Amino acid sequence: MSAYQNTIDFARAQDAADPLRDFRNDFHFPQHEGKPVIYFAGNSLGLQPKAAAAALKQELDDWATFGVEGHFNAKHPWYSYHEELTASTARLVGALPEEVVVMNQLTSNLHFLLVSFYRPHGKRVKILSEQRPFPSDTYAFASQIQFHGLDPATCLVEMVPRSGEHTLRTEDITQKIAELGDELALVCFGAVNFLTGQAFDIRAITEAAHHVGAKAGFDLAHAAGNLHLKLHDDGPDFACWCSYKYLNSGPGGVAGAFVHQRHLGKDLQRFAGWWGHDKKERFKMEREFKPMPTAEAWQVSNAPVLPMAVHRVALEQFDRAGMERLRAKSIQLTGYLRWLIEGISAANGNIFNIITPSDPADSGAQLSILVNGDGRGIFKRIAERGVVCDWREPNVLRMAPVPMYNSFEDAYRFAQILNASRS
Ligand SMILES: *Cc1c(COP(=O)(O)O)cnc(C)c1O
Repeated sequence: MSAYQNTIDFARAQDAADPLRDFRNDFHFPQHEGKPVIYFAGNSLGLQPKAAAAALKQELDDWATFGVEGHFNAKHPWYSYHEELTASTARLVGALPEEVVVMNQLTSNLHFLLVSFYRPHGKRVKILSEQRPFPSDTYAFASQIQFHGLDPATCLVEMVPRSGEHTLRTEDITQKIAELGDELALVCFGAVNFLTGQAFDIRAITEAAHHVGAKAGFDLAHAAGNLHLKLHDDGPDFACWCSYKYLNSGPGGVAGAFVHQRHLGKDLQRFAGWWGHDKKERFKMEREFKPMPTAEAWQVSNAPVLPMAVHRVALEQFDRAGMERLRAKSIQLTGYLRWLIEGISAANGNIFNIITPSDPADSGAQLSILVNGDGRGIFKRIAERGVVCDWREPNVLRMAPVPMYNSFEDAYRFAQILNASRS
């Protein structure tokens, strides 16, 4: 017998026992016919924390009051604003404080890190990534390869699942890395693939890459705030992420970067800017660049305080909730939603095929459903009934039950709507 039940009472009992249930009240939910939508799109754009407006207003007020003096006199001085985000960020991704920095945006950070960690030479020129990473990452890899005068057609290698399978097996990835051997310069995967929701084994991939003398980096766009990450211990050379998906920091929010301790204070190639210069001497405005001994060495520009104000309150919520508790709830909540959808599918000629791996070790708060039938129509009908999720051509329905603000009742009501929207 299953531990789950397809009843509203069961769902409400789960919510009543959820230690994180009150966080839901700290977010603005879009409304549908006078009621909150079922918001399963937190992997595209997280909801707005109610505390965001006051945090933004604080900076606007301080700007009005102090003008340029706000750099030092604001309640949260702008000069060192990004430093206020360091400790929470390190906890969030399982890093040492000196290994992380909040700066720029995701694809920009990927480029800056590739400058340092994709250094093709001799026959070691290739980048290995997963099949169909988010297109921005593909553009970044290909343009970096071209930047070095090389050809993406031969230098960019993408791993394809075995025939008949939708996701990759770790043993196939590590074997591919071993095969590429001394032709491999870098392995760079999305830690969670945006389309399938598959979470990759960061440690195994990193170890395999290092074993053949290659670097390993991860795009955490769909992993930060979703998985319980341990970047320092798992040992990748670098990682980067955005803050507007699971991290609820607003459209185009400021992004993050990780550089492993082993690379800090080293004489690496980088594209430099004044905010990466040793902060004690930054305003001496000297000609020669002297990098910070931390991941802050990769900063190029001064901190974008307005998006950082929102990010700060969003990170405070993660600190209060704790990734361990979020992850525990996430496994239960995603498991419940999966069980409900599989029940509908089994009763209706296997109309839904969930391609996201079912083992919690291989997935996070996302389910990707391959629809056998009129997927677009189903997507349209559930949207009309107050569900916000995501559709990817040709026939994948993606949803993210986010542990920070989604409830078991959301999952139950979603399943009711999905069942009513099959045709
Ligand atoms: C969301 C996402 C992006 C978006 O890049 P931006 O620079 O934030 O616009 C890039 N890569 C991945 C893997 C993503 O999921």
